[in-house]
Amino acid sequence: METIEVDVAIIGGGPAGCTCALYTSRADLKTVILDKNPSVGALAITHQIANYPGVSSEMSGEALLTLMRDQAIEYGTDYRRAQVFGVDVNGDWKTVYTPEGTFKSRALVLASGAMGRPASFKGEADFLGRGVSYCATCDGAFYKNREVAVVGANKEALEEAQVLTKFASVVHWITSNDPKKDDLHAQDLMQQPNVRHWSKTRLLEIDGNEGGVTGVILKSRSEEVQQSLSLDGVFVYMSGSKPITDFIGDQIAFKEDGGVVVDDFMATTSEGVWAIGDIRNTPFKQAVVAASDGCIAAMAIDRFLNSRKAIRVDWVHA
Ligand SMILES: Cc1cc2nc3c(=O)[nH]c(=O)nc-3n(C[C@H](O)[C@H](O)[C@H](O)COP(=O)(O)OP(=O)(O)OC[C@H]3O[C@@H](n4cnc5c(N)ncnc54)[C@H](O)[C@@H]3O)c2cc1C
Repeated sequence: METIEVDVAIIGGGPAGCTCALYTSRADLKTVILDKNPSVGALAITHQIANYPGVSSEMSGEALLTLMRDQAIEYGTDYRRAQVFGVDVNGDWKTVYTPEGTFKSRALVLASGAMGRPASFKGEADFLGRGVSYCATCDGAFYKNREVAVVGANKEALEEAQVLTKFASVVHWITSNDPKKDDLHAQDLMQQPNVRHWSKTRLLEIDGNEGGVTGVILKSRSEEVQQSLSLDGVFVYMSGSKPITDFIGDQIAFKEDGGVVVDDFMATTSEGVWAIGDIRNTPFKQAVVAASDGCIAAMAIDRFLNSRKAIRVDWVHA
């Protein structure tokens, strides 16, 4: 199988990878993006992206991603659909393994994002982007003076429910267990005048019609019968998303939460390897943050490669 040499290999074609490629290509570095599937990343499945600066609030995530990808390609990026199954980060030249071929690069960028949990509630997948959301910061403003539910009791659920109290008329907070008495964030949330806490209650089903979500069905541990609730939005926070790092093994350092450790320049603990976007498990997972990471890494890579122009490949013995 062929081996392709490039200056920069980027694993993942989301906003992080495409932005990095735009900058490295414009800096005249031979750049390849290896992308498993342009339709499955976090931005690609976002129905409407109303908070990316400079683009129409009606735009879908997929349309924005296509613009980003096309712009990188226009400046010379080689975009290839390929699923990376392994990397070797030792030495000056990094190796990336895909079923379509092997890539050798002087700089390697990890931008494979994070994987959310699979939709598990009845109706969750059907109404994703039409009332079901995983991001109050992104979608909260759509629910001004409307009723919403927040499902889950983890830190993210608490923070996102607080965001929603600024917009929604009522935030129904649904938790299968009671929050601890010393959890100050939970106590503070429950003090908000527009929060109704459904304690020891499970979400059974999300209902809706062609217009989107219309309500939920709940079952409280203390009640015999199920209850239905009319509302317009359901924000689900059951378990955090996990950075996609299975192809890296233990070749770089990870944080306890699974995110890749990087410095201010997005460099990992392995020289010549950068990590950008949701793979870092950033506290604020947003397209604009991922794009910014990509820009920072690209500029750092340009500087790094310019300082090492003389490096020769070590697998050609001519
Ligand atoms: C439902 C939803 C709604 C959201 N709404 C908003 C919003 O309104 N506004 C906002 O700013 N942000 C929003 N976000 C967050 C935003 O989409 C992410 O923060 C952003 O897309 C992260 O970019 P990324 O490039 O790191 O990862 P991704 O966009 O996830 O891209 C990762 C890419 O890597 C590829 N990949 C994965 N594994 C491999 C592999 N082994 N080999 C090759 N390629 C691989 C994937 O196919 C994918 O194309 C939303 C997220 C979700 C899930």
